[in-house]
Amino acid sequence: IYDPFTSCFMLMAEVFSALVSVKRMKQIDATPEQTGTNVCNNKGYDIEFKNVVFSYNEEPVLKGVSFVAKQGEVTALVGPSGSGKSTASKLAARFWDADSGTITLGGVDVKTVEPETLFKNYAIVFQDVMLFDETVMENIRLGRGDATDEEVMAAARAAQCEEFIQRLPQGSGGERQRISIARALLKNAPIVLLDEATASMDAESETLIQDALSVLLKNKTVMVIAHRMRTVANADKIVVLDDGKVSEMGTPAELMKKGGLYAHLVELQQGK
Ligand code: ADP
Repeated sequence: IYDPFTSCFMLMAEVFSALVSVKRMKQIDATPEQTGTNVCNNKGYDIEFKNVVFSYNEEPVLKGVSFVAKQGEVTALVGPSGSGKSTASKLAARFWDADSGTITLGGVDVKTVEPETLFKNYAIVFQDVMLFDETVMENIRLGRGDATDEEVMAAARAAQCEEFIQRLPQGSGGERQRISIARALLKNAPIVLLDEATASMDAESETLIQDALSVLLKNKTVMVIAHRMRTVANADKIVVLDDGKVSEMGTPAELMKKGGLYAHLVELQQGK
């Protein structure tokens, strides 16, 4: 009597877990697919936000955000946690569509371009790096499928991945980010979205990575989500977000002089 009951209870657990999976699959299936044209006639690679409003649920997270991230410049998004920095940078690559307002890439509304086509222009280095159960080499090759072994190795070397390239990817946060930087180097796209790529690194590899990044960022449209003020001191433009709105904008020097939120954040981090 005991045995069949045990199997029954085990199966019950599986049925429930399957039901959750089915529910999730239905949700995914019901999500409308983003559509658009297969050509992107952008003129240059400036990214412009015009009065962008966006909400995940009811409450708007971005409440009329406008700014331009120019080609050849580093634009840093700064602001308190939850102010909408990562949301803004994800919208720039059309992870979602804005509720109102427009986001343009070289004059083309990103809403009108099919995501796959649009994505060719972007290299994205975020914190939540997706690694596949493959070798480090193959994980880096995702940046550009047709890259040769030599090219992959070169990107790995530049992003300081060489020391762990023979291992399987279960690495630390810092290693994972280095893999994602290597991917981005390999892809060599005109726009780079960066989420403080060096956040989980020790001082030594950080210096090495900064060198790799300066190669990656050369002449690109760069949007960096900055958590530490030291990183943004060299940015061309700083956009300070506060509660979903742009509260200040300008060069680091201008904003320091102004003595607003940016200057306050800098002071906080310097421990003054
Ligand atoms: P930041 O990068 O400045 O810390 P985020 O853009 O991550 O800010 O988040 C802005 C707001 O949006 C926060 O209140 C956060 O809780 C919310 N948020 C972020 N991502 C999601 C999501 N996927 N679903 C629902 N709410 C989200």
